[in-house]
Amino acid sequence: MRPIIYFKLGKLELYFLCDGDFWLDGGSVFGVVPKPVWAKLTVPDEQNRIRLSQNPLLVRSGGKWLLIETGIDRKPGERFRKLYGLSEQNPVLGQLSLLGIRPWEISLIIHTHLHFDHAGLNTRWADGKLVRTFPQARHVVQQQELWEATHLHERSRASYLEQNLEGIPFETVEGEAEILPGIRVLPVPGHTLGMQAVELESQGHKLAYAADLVPTLMQTPLPYIMAFDLYPMTTLESRKKMYSRWLEGGYWLGFTHESGHPLGKLILGEKGYRAEPVYPD
Ligand SMILES: [Zn+2]
Repeated sequence: MRPIIYFKLGKLELYFLCDGDFWLDGGSVFGVVPKPVWAKLTVPDEQNRIRLSQNPLLVRSGGKWLLIETGIDRKPGERFRKLYGLSEQNPVLGQLSLLGIRPWEISLIIHTHLHFDHAGLNTRWADGKLVRTFPQARHVVQQQELWEATHLHERSRASYLEQNLEGIPFETVEGEAEILPGIRVLPVPGHTLGMQAVELESQGHKLAYAADLVPTLMQTPLPYIMAFDLYPMTTLESRKKMYSRWLEGGYWLGFTHESGHPLGKLILGEKGYRAEPVYPD
C-alpha cells in the first residue's frame, strides 16, 4: 500500500490517503474494452480481478479538516472482505491517527456518491452498536444521490449498504455549489445520476477529484467506462464536458481508485484523451 502523499495546492494543504487494496473483476472495470487490450495495462489475478485502491483526500483549509470520501466498508464481514480482497481494518483510521488527527476533528465530509467503497467509513461498530466514525462532521452529498441510495433497485442494491447511511445527518445540495471558499462540487452523472466531482482551487492551482467518472489513470480514454455505471452514455457525456473543462483549466486530476500514483493530468493527443502522472514539488 502506498504511503500518504502530502502536497500544497496554493493555500490548501492536501493529504492523499489510501484505504488499502480493493480487487474488482477486470472485465467489469474496463466495460467494453476487450481483455487483450486491458491486460496490457494491468495484471489480473487468478480470479480475473485487478488491483485498485480507494483514496480519500484529506484537506486542511482555513484551520479546518475536510475529507473527500471516507473509505471502503469492511463491516459486512469476512466473506465480503474476501470477495473484494480487503484488509480487516480501514487503513484510513491509522493514517489519520499517524497525522495526529482524531476522527471528531473532521468537520466536513464531501461525498462524491454513497457506494459502499466510497462512503463505507461513515459508520463503524463500537461495542456492538453502529456509530458515526466522524461524529462532528457535516456530510454533504447531492440530493439526487441520497434519493438513489434510499430507493434501491435490482441493479443498484449491491452497491449501497444501509449501514453506511444510518444515523448520518446528510446535508444535500442540488447541482453546482461552493462548499467552502475554493472548494466546489459539480454533478458528473453516469456512474450514478447523483454523483459529483469536487474541484479545489487556490492561488491559481487547481485539482479535480474525479470520483468514479475516472476512477484510475488507465481508465482515462473516453470509451473506458466501467460496466458498473448505471448510465454509461451519460458517463460519456459527463466525461466530454468535464475533460474539456479540466484540460483547458489546467486542472490536476485526483483518482479515487488508483492503486499507483493518484495524481495526473489530461492530455489530448491524436488517439484522444489519456492522462499522465504528475508529481507535486
Ligand atoms: Zn467506486
